[in-house]
Amino acid sequence: MKILLLGKNGQVGWELQRSLAPLGELIALDRASNPYCGDLSRPAAVAQSVLEIKPDVVVNAAAYTAVDKAESEADSARTVNADAPAELARAAKLCGAWLLHYSTDYVFDGSGSVPWREQDPVAPLNVYGRSKLAGEQAIRASGCRHLIFRTSWVYAARGQNFAKTMLRLAAEREELSVIADQFGAPTGAELLADVSAHALRHAVCHDDVSGVYHLTAGGATSWFDYAAHVFAYARQCGIPLKLTETGLRPISTEQYPTPARRPLNSRLDTNKLRTAFGLALPDWQSGVDRMLTELYGR
Ligand code: NDP
Repeated sequence: MKILLLGKNGQVGWELQRSLAPLGELIALDRASNPYCGDLSRPAAVAQSVLEIKPDVVVNAAAYTAVDKAESEADSARTVNADAPAELARAAKLCGAWLLHYSTDYVFDGSGSVPWREQDPVAPLNVYGRSKLAGEQAIRASGCRHLIFRTSWVYAARGQNFAKTMLRLAAEREELSVIADQFGAPTGAELLADVSAHALRHAVCHDDVSGVYHLTAGGATSWFDYAAHVFAYARQCGIPLKLTETGLRPISTEQYPTPARRPLNSRLDTNKLRTAFGLALPDWQSGVDRMLTELYGR
């Protein structure tokens, strides 16, 4: 199997380089790659790369992910998150390739407290969410065989992440306020990459699995409880914190205004994916603990 991976150095892209490697020949690109173009701000040129490489599978892990910045850069977000996936899908269709693409819980408006299912009505609250939704719609309309995995709250040991930021702040401050009314499942890039490889192996022999799926770690939490989990781990391991035992304070989304509105309920129902691919999704805590152990080695 010949696989073309785009966005090879992002959180998910980096892990995909590992998980896709055993499936066959892997050509991994980023925006600076040469001679093939992996720059999604040039949709036609990326599509041309697909047509020249003629892969069996295109995996798109590249995206415009700066959620707040997207509010003032709507055109860039749209080009990378909607126009480029549309072109990728067109090229994939032309060469008979599968397209694996990632989308987001931000396609929903975050109302209620029930986990969202794939067929629930979409209503993004911000520019990023609208651009990702437009990407999904273009892929579905193209007629190419596709897997679109909507995920949430992605973290990886490599690069910046919420847990690292919390630990840095907690080393500097006695008190910390964290949003307690947004709920979702922290999902490791490792898990996304591993499930992607398993799903692709299945998909290439089963055309009927083409579609949209929700893919997150099991369970759900708030940013506040996520932070509390990280601090409990740190205290257990003897990582020095300035943050006092009572210093972690819950705040509401309203008390922490950001340029982009965020959904309160980001819980995703993963039943369709687990059933279609016969997979189990471990609870979010196990991935977070593993990442913390990897980073802090205790
Ligand atoms: P990252 O931000 O870690 O990685 C995105 C990658 O896309 C980066 O390597 C970035 O490169 C690359 N990229 C950005 N613009 C371009 C461009 N014009 N051409 C080529 N590459 C580009 O994101 P994740 O790995 O976390 O996200 C993977 C997928 O999951 C995305 O589709 C995202 O929308 C989705 N998702 C992510 C969530 C999250 O919490 N992170 C939540 C829900 C869904 P560079 O570093 O050079 O900018």
